[in-house]
Amino acid sequence: MADHYDVIIIGAGPAGYVCAIRCAQLGLKTACIDNWINPQGKKSLGGTCLNVGCIPSKALLQSSQYYELAQQGLEQHGIKVSSVELDLAAMMQRKEKVVAELTAGIGALFKANKVTSITGRGRLLADKKVEVLNNKHKIIVSAENIIIASGSSSVELAIAPLTENLIVDSTGALAFDSVPEKIGVIGAGVIGLELGSVWRRLGSQVTVLEAQDVFLPVADQQVARDAKRLYKKQGLDIRLNARLLNTQISSVKNKQQVEVSYEDEKGEQKIIFDKLIVAVGRKPNTDNVFDSEADLILDERGFIHVNDQCETSQPGVYAIGDVVRGPMLAHKGSEEGMMVAELIVGKYAAINYDLIPAVIYTHPEIAWVGKTEQQLKAAGENYQVGTFPFVASGRAKAAGETAGMVKILSHSETDRILGVHIIGSHASELIAQAVIAMELGASAEDISLTVFAHPSLAEAVHEAALAVDNRAIHIMQKKH
Ligand code: FAD
Ligand code: NAD
Repeated sequence: MADHYDVIIIGAGPAGYVCAIRCAQLGLKTACIDNWINPQGKKSLGGTCLNVGCIPSKALLQSSQYYELAQQGLEQHGIKVSSVELDLAAMMQRKEKVVAELTAGIGALFKANKVTSITGRGRLLADKKVEVLNNKHKIIVSAENIIIASGSSSVELAIAPLTENLIVDSTGALAFDSVPEKIGVIGAGVIGLELGSVWRRLGSQVTVLEAQDVFLPVADQQVARDAKRLYKKQGLDIRLNARLLNTQISSVKNKQQVEVSYEDEKGEQKIIFDKLIVAVGRKPNTDNVFDSEADLILDERGFIHVNDQCETSQPGVYAIGDVVRGPMLAHKGSEEGMMVAELIVGKYAAINYDLIPAVIYTHPEIAWVGKTEQQLKAAGENYQVGTFPFVASGRAKAAGETAGMVKILSHSETDRILGVHIIGSHASELIAQAVIAMELGASAEDISLTVFAHPSLAEAVHEAALAVDNRAIHIMQKKH
């Protein structure tokens, strides 16, 4: 007789594990199946995010930021550092320790909440039965409710096939054992910019080849322009409109390199790299996750088809996280996991998909929520804009972090905030107040009437809100 649960979740990434914990908190008999095995051959919960995504990348971004700061940037504070040395092995060990502690933490949370953790590859069959394969050992479990949270994996390019350590995806790029002299990155998306920044700070010459002719089309273009200028100043060589033609591995003096050919407006170009990082997006993990008898539908882009409540075409079967539509972000998946748990026990739950914040963890950081100016223009919306540069913020000046700005877009008639875009130090933290304000339907005036602590970077949000009405104090604005 198969073990029977109230809920079985396939996948223990930020979507699946959060869902499992919430289900258990709500009194449901819950099992979570996951097949992630770390390089030490051990089961490791937390999915892409904890093992090879958000967490290790942010650990390296922080460490590399300190390294760069120790080399240049402290002298403005009157601190002279005579010799700075990189211990890459120690930096990597720290990253691995952070990952190990957090992934073990999920195991502890499962235990504490009485979530049954099952190791192996789960495959949904008919009638809400799940086959779990662990090596050659096979079991069948079943549940009243099934939630698929199988996540995503890197898109591969046929003309840049991955090799052991020369042409790599983001996972490989988080684990180089020495600093490559020249790195090529295919794709100027979030991963390309974050990991390109890590290795540039550690000493690599980084060239980013992007197929599109617009830089960061998903971001507000005023912010994207600022970002491109700042990245260029930092030494990140971003080449737009670069169509990849071919890659070829060559060996020069026993050293393997990758020759990349691409085409831009000037014709065919060739460039040689010591490592090539392919960062051209991620695709949903749907292979072998469900049997044809499970009768699930994929949408036109290969994601499991779900409605706003993450219900699939089969009653009692849900899908959440990167395997379904919407931004491929950990917090989006986690919120979906919580929503589904609440729905299963009959509570009301919904997600405002219009207000999912996005962050790029470069320096300065970029963060936004809501609509961009170009989206509002395209929709013919009547909007007004308030911006405030960090160079005019006392706290930013004191910290020596003056790059960037806050931009608030609000409706011309109602003043309701439609979008907030921040490029600057701690933008990932500053954006939260904008999300809350927008969730509560605030106007720019509501923010301008709120008291902010002085001196703080958040005051720039206050000033941007004042600027919507031409009332910013610490910059000159044109008169009414
Ligand atoms: P995943 O995290 O991919 O987890 C899915 C889990 O399911 C995995 O453990 C997988 O092994 C398991 N699984 C799959 N199929 C089966 C099966 N059949 N049986 C059993 N188990 C299965 N997002 C952010 O919000 N912020 C960031 O800063 C950020 N940084 C990132 C940096 C990098 C380098 C990368 C690659 C991604 C980053 N992301 C970030 C994206 C984020 O990692 C994903 O959006 C998030 O992990 C998706 O969560 P998920 O639970 O849907 O899937
Ligand atoms: P992405 O979609 O952000 O960027 C991929 C880029 O590659 C695009 O600009 C695209 O135009 C370009 N591209 C595609 N094919 C190309 C080609 N043949 N030649 C040159 N350029 C090409 O994808 P990503 O950076 O791989 O990230 C994957 C996902 O992971 C994203 O959805 C992102 O949300 C998530 N992620 C989030 C964070 C974060 O929240 N800070 C960090 C890393 C990853």
